[in-house]
Amino acid sequence: MSEPVWRRCEAPGRWQMVHVHQYKAEGSAPFRDVTRQLLFAHPELACEWRYFEIGPGGHTTLERHDHRHAVMILRGAGACLVGREVRAVRSHDLVEVPAWTWHQFRATEASPLGFLCLVNADRDRPCLPSEVELTELRRDPKVAAFIRC
Ligand code: MN
Repeated sequence: MSEPVWRRCEAPGRWQMVHVHQYKAEGSAPFRDVTRQLLFAHPELACEWRYFEIGPGGHTTLERHDHRHAVMILRGAGACLVGREVRAVRSHDLVEVPAWTWHQFRATEASPLGFLCLVNADRDRPCLPSEVELTELRRDPKVAAFIRC
């Protein structure tokens, strides 16, 4: 049996003993001003519960993959692309990203966007869009105006 874990919230989006990492290695994929924190990852859970925070005007990587994302917006405001749909999101909204669905999250220019994201511990690596896929995505003017890559 393992020990219980308690971590106080110290500030919005900050917890005791939870390290704030860069979202991804610089240059590995396009993104802007995003941090990543691993909140829960015990092997018995078989999943990881992460917290991402996008600074004002920032964005995550436009990507897709086989694993599913279960997202709850925790703070701030922004918008996300899931599939072909762009929607505004704010605190406590829920977003589920199915397998192989293009997705990207953006904070508004005026506020950060912090969100919880649940994934399988054992998962595939994200794929970035090819030029052909980008051209296809950009056929929709709303998608074209939203995506950053
Ligand atoms: Mn993803």
